[in-house]
Amino acid sequence: MALRACGFIVFRRLANCLPPQDNIEYLLLQTSYGQHHWTPPKGHVDPGEDDLTTALRETKEEAGLDAEDLQVVEGFLKELHYEVRGRPKEVLYWLAELKDPGTQVILSNEHQNYRWARLEDACTLAQYKEMQDTLREAHRHLKTQQDKK
Ligand code: AMP
Repeated sequence: MALRACGFIVFRRLANCLPPQDNIEYLLLQTSYGQHHWTPPKGHVDPGEDDLTTALRETKEEAGLDAEDLQVVEGFLKELHYEVRGRPKEVLYWLAELKDPGTQVILSNEHQNYRWARLEDACTLAQYKEMQDTLREAHRHLKTQQDKK
């Protein structure tokens, strides 16, 4: 059976004079395990736990951000598939804005660093194509929302 994990692509908007899309920064955490890759907060679904609860719990555990700190963006949910040591893994990501961009990120011992990165920097850090595509899709989604306003 596939490993299943859920998490959030967390972003914040910095207040400055740039166009709104350029103010967006995505949160990536650098693992303290393996090859120290960068990933949004996410983790494995506990038995009996629903996916969104997992995503919120893991974001709290790995980045110190509470559900109340986040505004979940409607209409975005993306599923990634890859293999970990020969086992299929599926990861579901919701998209959420950090309401107060100054909120401090607090890491667990699973990660050794974090970055708030603009889209292209985030894609470089994220390294895996599916993750890059997901970040770009999230960005397009936010732009479409912005254009409707
Ligand atoms: P993770 O799922 O982030 O805990 O990572 C577990 C293993 O899968 C690590 O070796 C990562 O380098 C690798 N990995 C993480 N994300 C991806 C991805 N999107 N595509 C392929 N491999 C990945």
